[in-house]
Amino acid sequence: MNIHEYQAKQLMEKFGIAVPGGAVAETPEEAERIARSLGKNNLVIKSQIHAGGRGKGTFKSGFKGGVHLAKTANQVRDLAEHMLGQTLVTHQTGPEGRVVRKVLVTEAMEIKRELYFAILIDRALSTPLIIASTEGGVEIETVAETHPEKIIREPIHPALGLQPYQTRKIARQLGFASSEMRSACKLFAGLYKLFIKSDCSMVEVNPLVVTVGGEVFALDAKFNFDDNALFRQPDIVGLRDVEEEDPREVEASKFHLNYIGLDGKIGCMVNGAGLAMATMDIIKLYGGEPANFLDVGGGATEQQVTEAFKILMADRKVEAILVNIFGGIMKCDVIAQGIINAIHFLETQERRMVPVIVRLEGTNVEMGRKLIEESGLSVQAASGLTEAAQLAVAATQKN
Ligand code: GDP
Ligand code: MG
Repeated sequence: MNIHEYQAKQLMEKFGIAVPGGAVAETPEEAERIARSLGKNNLVIKSQIHAGGRGKGTFKSGFKGGVHLAKTANQVRDLAEHMLGQTLVTHQTGPEGRVVRKVLVTEAMEIKRELYFAILIDRALSTPLIIASTEGGVEIETVAETHPEKIIREPIHPALGLQPYQTRKIARQLGFASSEMRSACKLFAGLYKLFIKSDCSMVEVNPLVVTVGGEVFALDAKFNFDDNALFRQPDIVGLRDVEEEDPREVEASKFHLNYIGLDGKIGCMVNGAGLAMATMDIIKLYGGEPANFLDVGGGATEQQVTEAFKILMADRKVEAILVNIFGGIMKCDVIAQGIINAIHFLETQERRMVPVIVRLEGTNVEMGRKLIEESGLSVQAASGLTEAAQLAVAATQKN
């Protein structure tokens, strides 16, 4: 799960991390009011979307930049008018962009240096890892490619946590002056505490800035949370903005389905993550592209199968559906009944239908096949995975 920058900053404040003062607005009037109440003549207004690269982004209206500096509250209002309700395209949003529904108005900092600081989980090391660089404010991927020596990596022992010697080491490597050391180390320690306590999978501060006055601030923030830990993070769940999420994924999460939307034409319904990956591979092998990853899990109910099927059918990109089930704990007749229910439901609603290819194997497979046959629905049965993939790819190539 992701959150907005303004929410990340509120969370950081709770952990004693220095962030510029400000507030979020949904209308130009509100933005102006916030600017006035800050009482500064150096202000920043920032589009709030779940994507980075806003500064260099462009609105579909032609207006350039999702982050702007301003001198007066009136300017902030004008800028907000150009941003709110408009679609911002950045290198992270894809060409369709994201609609800006909120803007963050903050005090502008006089920046001396822009740095990069992130904490994430390194799967190879199986530990949290701090990644930092003196080259902040720009894309870290570019720095990693062109100047790999400028990337600092500091693994953290999961049980011992971030040690004071490590924060000092990183601060020195980032070139902090001795007068800035204290606030830099405090920020690193605060961010690590937040990372652990909030079950983050990534926190990225880019840029982390040193002001002309020698203060250290987190100027931008992108946080990512471990979905599997959300059950014990009610406050974080409260920050969820479903408008920023793939509507297909929002719908799937209501029914506890493991669903990830992709761009291809073949909708997949599979049980088991491994089998789902294999199914996607074999679709690609025969020249198709999967429209999603969907693992209905080992103990899916008839209702979950029905809902999963509805989500696939409602996806305009989907031109064929491939159901690949290996019945173990999951029984083939349950899947079959779910598919039949879903198709009946969609038929009564006169919704769009696409060809369905089903490959069932394992527990109660005979019952499952019989149910489908007797239903009289035009579902193609495949005898193996290869045939199933070939049929699905062929179905999408007809159009
Ligand atoms: P991003 O483009 O989505 O990563 O958004 P950022 O929050 O990183 O803002 C983009 C850039 O705007 C930053 O790298 C800074 O150069 C600039 N910027 C943001 N806030 C301030 C500020 O308070 N003062 C100054 N001088 N520049 C700022
Ligand atoms: Mg940034």
